[in-house]
Amino acid sequence: MSRILVIGGAGYIGSICVEELLNAGHRVGVFDNLTEGHRKAVDMRARFFQGDLADAPVIKLALAEFKPDAVMHFAANALVGESMTKPEKYFRNNVCNGLNLLQAMHESGVKRLVFSSTCATFGVPERVPIDETVPQRPINPYGESKLLFEKILRWYGEIHGLKFVALRYFNAAGASEQFGEDHRVETHLIPNVLKVALGQKQAAEIYGTDYETPDGTCIRDYIHILDLAKAHMLALEARESTYYNLGTGGGTSVKEIIDTCRAVTGRDIPVIERPRRPGDPPRLIAASDRIRNELGWTPKHQDIRRIIESAWAWHVKNPTGYGD
Ligand code: UDP
Repeated sequence: MSRILVIGGAGYIGSICVEELLNAGHRVGVFDNLTEGHRKAVDMRARFFQGDLADAPVIKLALAEFKPDAVMHFAANALVGESMTKPEKYFRNNVCNGLNLLQAMHESGVKRLVFSSTCATFGVPERVPIDETVPQRPINPYGESKLLFEKILRWYGEIHGLKFVALRYFNAAGASEQFGEDHRVETHLIPNVLKVALGQKQAAEIYGTDYETPDGTCIRDYIHILDLAKAHMLALEARESTYYNLGTGGGTSVKEIIDTCRAVTGRDIPVIERPRRPGDPPRLIAASDRIRNELGWTPKHQDIRRIIESAWAWHVKNPTGYGD
């Protein structure tokens, strides 16, 4: 049992990792500014600190009070499209504010970190599936900000002895029984398509049908949030600092997602075809052999239908999300 401080633990991915950490017997603190996250998404068993990474003294206070053995850092802005219009927001929050956290950890003697990175650090990948040897050349400020932070981690490791694991998520999807995906402005594919099924949106939008993919729409590797949470648990045990690509190795197109949502919900889902969204690579699929071999990670919920069923169950139970 360890004490884990989860930064951004009121957000979608963070909240479910918190739940799984608690289920595994860890003591958990959550640090979140609640701009993207929700107070109700924080598991009742966790201790909550409301604070912002822009505020270095507040981070140090939380570290001094909670005394974590390790930190998990999920707090970031994570929208490709938005990053193409507001780069400053992405560099400031994901890099500068993240650096405040690293420095506060260093000054407080906290030496272990699991960091949420992203496949967006690869840009349009030289080859697919993407393993850790593929060159990272981001094509949007979001991916660039995460890559910059990965580089900073390396130097904190070399100079200050930080032990870190950076997990480069592909597309997180699905829900646990209790917690799910609720963004105040929803831009992600699956929740947006499910909103149409719930009658909260008129039509699903497809951003680009002229990509060089079999059906012309973008392909992504959707990973169940519980499999993603499991990888964090294993990352806490990693002996060396490292970077892992984290996906199932399967690829699903936008049109296939919409068809699966129709099958799962039994509802009609009209679609509107839109132009490409700037910053979107056509095909992102993970090769996750490294984390499978080194940490023994195996995804248990790879079937896209099962992933969407879990998301649908959560949205049906929580039609207005967390209600805030
Ligand atoms: N997408 C879409 N319609 C939507 C939302 C997303 O066609 O309403 C596409 C988007 O262009 C991308 C894929 O679905 O190719 C996944 O996008 P999402 O925003 O869910 O995740 P991302 O891959 O950007 O992290």
